[in-house]
Amino acid sequence: MSKRLVGSVTQGAVVRRTVFNEDHEAFRETVRAFIEAEVVPVYDEWFAAGQAPRDFYYKLGELGVFGIRVPEEFGGAGIDSHKFEAVMYEETARAGVSFGGSGVHVLLGLPYIEMLATDEQKKRFLPKFVSGEEMWALAMTEPGTGSDVAGMKTTAKLSADGTHYVLNGAKTFITGGVHADRVIVCARTSAPREDDRRFGISLFAVDTKSAGYSVGRKLDKLGLKVSDTAELAFVDVEVPVDDLLGEENKGFHYLGHNLASERWGIAFGAYAQAKAAVRFAKEYVQERAVFGKPVASFQNTKFELAACQAEVDAAEAVADRALEALDAGELTPAEAASAKLFCTEVAHRVIDRCLQLHGGYGFMNEYPIARLYADNRVNRIYGGTSEVMKMIIAKSMGL
Ligand SMILES: Cc1cc2nc3c(=O)[nH]c(=O)nc-3n(C[C@H](O)[C@H](O)[C@H](O)COP(=O)(O)OP(=O)(O)OC[C@H]3O[C@@H](n4cnc5c(N)ncnc54)[C@H](O)[C@@H]3O)c2cc1C
Repeated sequence: MSKRLVGSVTQGAVVRRTVFNEDHEAFRETVRAFIEAEVVPVYDEWFAAGQAPRDFYYKLGELGVFGIRVPEEFGGAGIDSHKFEAVMYEETARAGVSFGGSGVHVLLGLPYIEMLATDEQKKRFLPKFVSGEEMWALAMTEPGTGSDVAGMKTTAKLSADGTHYVLNGAKTFITGGVHADRVIVCARTSAPREDDRRFGISLFAVDTKSAGYSVGRKLDKLGLKVSDTAELAFVDVEVPVDDLLGEENKGFHYLGHNLASERWGIAFGAYAQAKAAVRFAKEYVQERAVFGKPVASFQNTKFELAACQAEVDAAEAVADRALEALDAGELTPAEAASAKLFCTEVAHRVIDRCLQLHGGYGFMNEYPIARLYADNRVNRIYGGTSEVMKMIIAKSMGL
């Protein structure tokens, strides 16, 4: 693989970035062409329908984007890096689109298979994961508990003959929950210990076709209109013991470990959205005339966009550094929390200022800035709220 470093053209200046090489840039061209051909022409239909069609995920599978990190023996490309995912975040944001609920398939699903699946499970799960035949989601949040993961009430009890667990409970806000074929469900297999309330949670790769498993409402959201977010219910669902991921009762530890990569993904996605917002605003203000002059000619516009660009440059540096740390296996929970907090807060400020420069058109969903504004809002909430990120960072500071 070539190690030549590639400058990335931002909003006019060429900023030397060290994270991507020529292979990533070639991949960028492929993804960009794919988005132009397969997503942009139909995106308004997906937006109106509130989800991307299931068939689209097979196309993503064919494109090879689900298998980048999956070992070759299971049908993937065997590349131990998140950089190609990072390119996808940049390209979808740049085009003002998303790949629907499939975003969680790799970001949330794959780390658990990589970390916990036995060889038998990998053989069973990964080929279908790579092709898009089986889409994955992750179900932690419950109607009564989100930030406080240890407070979950869903239970999984081992059957008397030891062949399966019996799953009962409910989850909510599950991204990809409508289309998912396998959901990593977090459930209590034991009561919490008096000295450790995190003990007793286990993870299961639940087949969504199982009897007693049902998908409730597809939730109507402020943003992320193309992503299917659902309620799930489990009534005496029999989950074979072979579908337990990792060891019983250690689920909280696994979640804590993998939330760092999820938070990097949200941080990087938010930075990419902020960068796209500046691009959309720059294009818009050059075309729009007010008082007989382009909006771009006002000093306020130049200052606003310059300030936004500076924030995006800083967020890019943070997101890239976290990416390198993630690839090196060195991204700590506190660093991931810091990157998520910083990049999502930057994106929030930048996208709002860029929308303002659009005037009333910025409020119209036909303009990508309006959709970005709505889509970005949840970045400060899901994967752990900004307040929870501050708690993690403060703890790492010994506070
Ligand atoms: C669009 C969307 C998609 C999602 N996708 C998924 C998914 O795929 N899988 C999944 O499992 N979950 C998913 N979630 C759930 C998400 O991770 C939770 O919403 C999030 O963790 C917050 O939990 P909560 O909604 O229960 O808020 P709560 O925990 O009820 O928090 C309410 C408020 O209290 C604050 N708060 C909480 N604890 C403290 C504290 N100790 N100190 C100070 N303030 C505090 C919070 O910051 C927040 O402001 C999704 C959510 C959304 C909106």
